[in-house]
Amino acid sequence: MTKTLEKTTGQQIYHNYIDGKWIKSETGRTFASYNPANLEEVVGHFALSSPNDLKAAVDAAHKAFPGWKKTPAPERAEIILKAAHILESRKEELARNMVREMGKVIKEARGDVQEAIDMAKYAAGEGRRLMGMTVPSELRNKFAMAVRVPIGVIGVITPWNFPVAIPSWKMLPALVAGNTIVFKPASDTPLVAMQFVEILNEAGLPPGVVNLVTGSGSEVGQPLVDDPRVGCISVTGSSETGRRIAGRCGELMKRITCELGGKNAICVMDDADIDLAVDGALWGSFGTAGQRCTATSRIIVHQKIYKEFAEKFVARTKELKIGDGLDPKNDVGPVVSKAQLESVNSYVEIGKAEGAKLLFGGRILTDGALAKGCFHEPTVFGDVKPTMRIAQEEIFGPVTCLMPVKDFEEAIKVANGTEYGLSLSMYTKDINRAFQAIEELESGIVYINAPTIGAEIQLPFGGVKQTGNGHREAGPTAIDQFTEWKSIYVDYSGSLQKAQIDKYEGE
Ligand code: NAP
Repeated sequence: MTKTLEKTTGQQIYHNYIDGKWIKSETGRTFASYNPANLEEVVGHFALSSPNDLKAAVDAAHKAFPGWKKTPAPERAEIILKAAHILESRKEELARNMVREMGKVIKEARGDVQEAIDMAKYAAGEGRRLMGMTVPSELRNKFAMAVRVPIGVIGVITPWNFPVAIPSWKMLPALVAGNTIVFKPASDTPLVAMQFVEILNEAGLPPGVVNLVTGSGSEVGQPLVDDPRVGCISVTGSSETGRRIAGRCGELMKRITCELGGKNAICVMDDADIDLAVDGALWGSFGTAGQRCTATSRIIVHQKIYKEFAEKFVARTKELKIGDGLDPKNDVGPVVSKAQLESVNSYVEIGKAEGAKLLFGGRILTDGALAKGCFHEPTVFGDVKPTMRIAQEEIFGPVTCLMPVKDFEEAIKVANGTEYGLSLSMYTKDINRAFQAIEELESGIVYINAPTIGAEIQLPFGGVKQTGNGHREAGPTAIDQFTEWKSIYVDYSGSLQKAQIDKYEGE
């Protein structure tokens, strides 16, 4: 295991990382993280930190900022590139710990780490760009340009479903841009968050540049939001959490970037390749046990092919192998926790009560070894109406809804008919319809002939409506979140020139 671990009486205790050192919480209290495939297995014990612990981390980040800001961006980027190489060498270890900690199947966990590797390489490239702008001045002998400057201390608050990828999307561009960080990971996935921070540290970050504090949203997350020295909060989580944090940041006039919930849909038209759409819908609905912000939780199908699609989709769902994600034969792992399992299952009851047809699944699985974990049967509802709660609310588990529609126009209307706007998809062979869909679907991400999951790090990532507040992670836009613009005018005329007033009259 890694250097960060301390063996005490057979149990592994993990501490906070503050100012370049692993430090015990002043509370002395810990919380346990469990393997959702087997709740009898404790993955580790983590500091249940206090607002004072958080303050110490902000002190360190605040102190480290001037030095890190002055470090040339290409030098900062060298460290991030080194982190990419360490991540590559420890990919399997991180992936296996991720499976133990949050349950996704091993090939998806490797993909999660790969996303961080991709982001590290991409962000490292930004160290030699961080593009500013020059524009012509309206006056002679005057130079006009704008440069990016770091914000200062960034508060990073992340969810458990992409426990390495999401922190990397936030932290790596923020670091290359010259900011320092206080990171509060989700309480369900502290181990891999710590290993990620350990790798950044090993790559050569100076003390205080990245700090990590574990503990609850209220005792650690909230004080991070409240601290006036933290210039920006970057949060990914549920819409409820995002709204609460954004409200507080509004009062404090603090920059806040939110990546929140989704209720994503695939539309399948009557001219689509049905087998391709079934493949996509299966992967979109049940990949990561449906616990992706971009998961396909609605499948909107043209009525002419609805019956055929539903039969094929249910048949393929029945074949999915459920079990511990460390066994490469399994397609779907557990959901993250008992609370999540109960929440997902409550939607099965809601769907039935609303009159949706349960075509397959619906049960919490308790056969054999599955009884020890948080396994939910992949579940398919048919004849779901757009107004039903199961078609409107984020379930965040392996439950999907089949929704028949009469034509393309109705498909678009239904797809757009939720409060979220993260990822929508259209399956059709008609190029005109495809482009019409690109234009009319109201979401930050649109796929054609591919499911709602599968974003790559080199394009902006994020959503509209209740999914976000207008910022985008990843791609060139990632840097925008973490920098301020400074506009600079250099007048080398030697005389007072007045913009908008002085006119050049020739000589
Ligand atoms: P969550 O319960 O909202 O928690 C997200 C993070 O916020 C956790 O670290 C949590 O800490 C922290 N937190 C909770 N209350 C807080 C407060 N008052 N102040 C500061 N921090 C607070 O979300 P989750 O269950 O971890 O993740 C699932 C959600 O994330 C889903 O809604 C999903 O759609 C969304 N998500 C969105 C995207 C996207 O890019 N749009 C990507 C992935 C996931 P604790 O863990 O200690 O409670």
